[in-house]
Amino acid sequence: MLKIRGLAVRHGEIEALHDVSLDVGEGEIVAVIGPNGAGKTSLLRTVAGALRPARGSITIDGRPIAGAPAWRVVRHGIVLVPEGRRIFGDQTVRANLELGAVSHGRFDDMPRVLARFPALRERLEQPAGALSGGQQQMLAIARGLMARPRLLLLDEPSLGLAPRLVRETFDEVRRIRAEGVSVLLVEQLAALALGVADRGYVLDRGRVVAAGAARDLAADPRVVAAYLGRRVV
Ligand code: ATP
Repeated sequence: MLKIRGLAVRHGEIEALHDVSLDVGEGEIVAVIGPNGAGKTSLLRTVAGALRPARGSITIDGRPIAGAPAWRVVRHGIVLVPEGRRIFGDQTVRANLELGAVSHGRFDDMPRVLARFPALRERLEQPAGALSGGQQQMLAIARGLMARPRLLLLDEPSLGLAPRLVRETFDEVRRIRAEGVSVLLVEQLAALALGVADRGYVLDRGRVVAAGAARDLAADPRVVAAYLGRRVV
């Protein structure tokens, strides 16, 4: 579904990604793990059309999207849930959800999306900034679902959440996939991400240094030693 080949991304003088190749198949959860500054956010932002690549190709179902603006990428069903949620705190929960749907202009998905997030339904007319951290993460995901994704790009969904809420967030990722949406997940909590994913890529200083079935990566002594600290599955 998503095919990335030879991708390079620069921030001015800094080359954040060098020659990255990666695939996401229909219905897959793919995790990208790696330390701080590895280039994970740059990767997702480039796929989403927020950054232009310096080199390389990105295709969705064979159609090229590298360098296309975000509004065009979202029309292919590629939707980014950004790091740090980026919700609008002084707007209501409802307004934040409606923003997710502006790409196609239809708000009739709201009941279906709210049915899975009762806490949001109860707080629909409250400012989003009044929600707890976990609820704000759910709102960010719900806003993404309002855009009718075929491929959801999730950037560090665990960031700043208590362990119970992290588990709930990962359960939600499993449900999203069960509904037929593919997921490209970027996480520093590598063990958890590999626990939910089918396949994984290890990114380090802008390069893919390991790739394979999530289960194999989680058991690979080099990956364990460098990025996990202990065996996970
Ligand atoms: P984190 O987990 O901290 O978000 P990351 O793996 O997502 O890290 P990126 O945020 O993609 O990594 O950063 C990759 C490299 O690019 C880092 O060296 C970072 O300092 C640099 N970088 C990222 N964004 C910018 C920017 N807007 N301007 C300049 N340098 C940037």
